[in-house]
Amino acid sequence: MHMDTTPVDVAVIGAGQAGLSAAYHLRRRGFAPVATAPDAGETFVALDANAAPGGAWQHRWSSLRMATVNGIHELPGFPVPPADPRTASRDALPPYFAEYERRFGLDVQRPVQVRAVRRADDAPDGRLLVETDHGMWSARYVINATGTWTRPFRPHYPGIERFRGRQLHVADYRSADEFARRRVVIVGAGVSAVQLLEEISHVADTVWMTRREPQWIDEGEFDLPARSAAIAGVEARVRQGLPPASVISVTGMHWTPWARAAQARGVLVRHPMFASIEEHGVRMPDGSFVEADAILWATGFRPALDHLAPLRLRTPAGGLRVADTRSLDEARLFLIGYGPSQSTVGANRAGRAAVRQIVAERTAGSAAAAA
Ligand SMILES: Cc1cc2nc3c(=O)[nH]c(=O)nc-3n(C[C@H](O)[C@H](O)[C@H](O)COP(=O)(O)OP(=O)(O)OC[C@H]3O[C@@H](n4cnc5c(N)ncnc54)[C@H](O)[C@@H]3O)c2cc1C
Repeated sequence: MHMDTTPVDVAVIGAGQAGLSAAYHLRRRGFAPVATAPDAGETFVALDANAAPGGAWQHRWSSLRMATVNGIHELPGFPVPPADPRTASRDALPPYFAEYERRFGLDVQRPVQVRAVRRADDAPDGRLLVETDHGMWSARYVINATGTWTRPFRPHYPGIERFRGRQLHVADYRSADEFARRRVVIVGAGVSAVQLLEEISHVADTVWMTRREPQWIDEGEFDLPARSAAIAGVEARVRQGLPPASVISVTGMHWTPWARAAQARGVLVRHPMFASIEEHGVRMPDGSFVEADAILWATGFRPALDHLAPLRLRTPAGGLRVADTRSLDEARLFLIGYGPSQSTVGANRAGRAAVRQIVAERTAGSAAAAA
């Protein structure tokens, strides 16, 4: 083993909602942070690439307010303090995460960017090496909770490199003022596309384009059984190793307050996707031309899993085979906040489910050793 490799029972990668939930449950089940108690019976480490607490929330655009997020589920064991609904989620949530880490002594190591996870040897119950820009950990189990924020997805269209205007992904969006009096093409059929369409259309000329006609559903139609069915659909995809697809893409579009506001102002007008991009705009499938100063890609995110590449778990379909948070092809690896657990409530549950399985296995292992 490398001289500066720290042995640990569980390494949690990422300290957003999912990673903190896992760290909390590890703590409750008697695991101690390795930096403060290296000789404790069972240890864990939580590693996070961000310089400060808050996971992806600290980077989201400021008009995503507590009143307009889809609903934030509290971290386990500590309620979200009441916040003015007008507060930006990027201001309200990071202090909550910071307090949570302090209160439960989670000792998150940051900024620590995990570069690779690889097998130490061929033994299926051997250790996994977690290589980072600040040292190396060797773990019996890895709980991956790296979210999607660092992997914005932008589809390729012919001519994309010829465009002279500004192109940006919602991950880079700051404020509508940057687009004042411009013509902005907004691409995408998700919640962010509609929110930003509503917002930007107050100061700019907007054109909304989506590949498919959005399937609008009323709040009442999305009851608990419908929600469970949607999550079960994503679960089934992930079990087969298909790319997860967001829960929203399976459920259709809600009539959010933004959607209603945009509709009332006559700006919620959907056009089909353009066929190609030119220097000063986009060419539509019927040959017509739409001028544009900017293209805003509200085309979603992909799971941030590049550091797991050495484990060679990707299926030809492009996903990882996962069931009940655990990789079906690498039993020492758990993926939380992935696929069906990609929401604040799902992330919480997934953290608990992963830890429960680790504890059960460790207990069974020590019972067998004692017998
Ligand atoms: C714009 C937007 C709005 C959303 N709104 C809601 C909402 O209102 N309600 C809801 O339930 N869900 C919402 N979601 C879904 C959201 O993704 C989850 O709810 C949740 O916040 C994600 O938590 P997470 O812990 O999985 O990921 P994150 O919060 O992204 O945390 C992942 C952490 O892992 C770290 N990391 C990544 N790669 C590495 C690496 N290689 N090494 C070390 N650390 C790494 C990151 O720095 C980050 O701190 C939203 C998503 C988006 C994109």
